Amino acid sequence: MSLPQIDNGVVIPPSRWKCARCDKKDKLRLNLTDGMILCGQKNWDGTGGNNHAIEHYKETSCPPAVKLGTITADLEAADVFSYPEDDSVVDPLLALHLAFFGIDFSPLQKTEMTTAERELDQNTNHDWNPIQVSGQDVEPIFGPGYTGLVNLGNNCYMAAPMQVVFSTRSFNSRYYINQSSKMAFEMAPADPTADLNTQLTKLAHGMLPGKQSVPALENDDKANARTTLVARKGVGKANSAIKQILQMNTNGSLASAIFTGCP
Ligand SMILES: [Zn+2]
Repeated sequence: MSLPQIDNGVVIPPSRWKCARCDKKDKLRLNLTDGMILCGQKNWDGTGGNNHAIEHYKETSCPPAVKLGTITADLEAADVFSYPEDDSVVDPLLALHLAFFGIDFSPLQKTEMTTAERELDQNTNHDWNPIQVSGQDVEPIFGPGYTGLVNLGNNCYMAAPMQVVFSTRSFNSRYYINQSSKMAFEMAPADPTADLNTQLTKLAHGMLPGKQSVPALENDDKANARTTLVARKGVGKANSAIKQILQMNTNGSLASAIFTGCP
């Protein structure tokens, strides 16, 4: 990495680092160009730093900074972040760049996750619900087309696409407007629980009229929503019907997604 370093007399002490602009003593970044120690970015939930490192980059255009808490004797594992690329980069000369500011990296202990480790941690442990509604006033809505689906065990993979496809006009007319539950049962084979048409029709008539989509105070959580358990059984057994639907449905990729992971 060709990195100009400014010889401004900065010597970094071996410990007790602190942001030059606030009192933050963790989540610190050392700018490898000018030796400034500043705090990292603030996270959406208020944790992290106070954005002083990135503000410094915007003011000075000094691009890479190393996360001080990721420096150990194993320098290859240290996280060097490049602001213009908004990503981690490899600095094969990191030992020299640290030595420029007087840092002996060998005794340092790791105190912070690298960007890659943090992303992996977020992907494996992240709860998506808070971030999706972050900063928004979300009001529950009720009525026709707004019936939820209870997640029983591991059927969320099916509940989510079912809600999407039943919001489309084609599924709405095929399984709700143009077909009653009575018609579906009359056409069904001996075992209607294994019949995809019957189960999707039943699901449509449960979800779309909105009879079970009422404010929570007037009902309990489970009564507010349908389940997809029997429909899932029908999907799993009706392989030929699935192929027909995939052919009929103009949005084949979405329909494929519905049936991914069916038993
Ligand atoms: Zn700061």
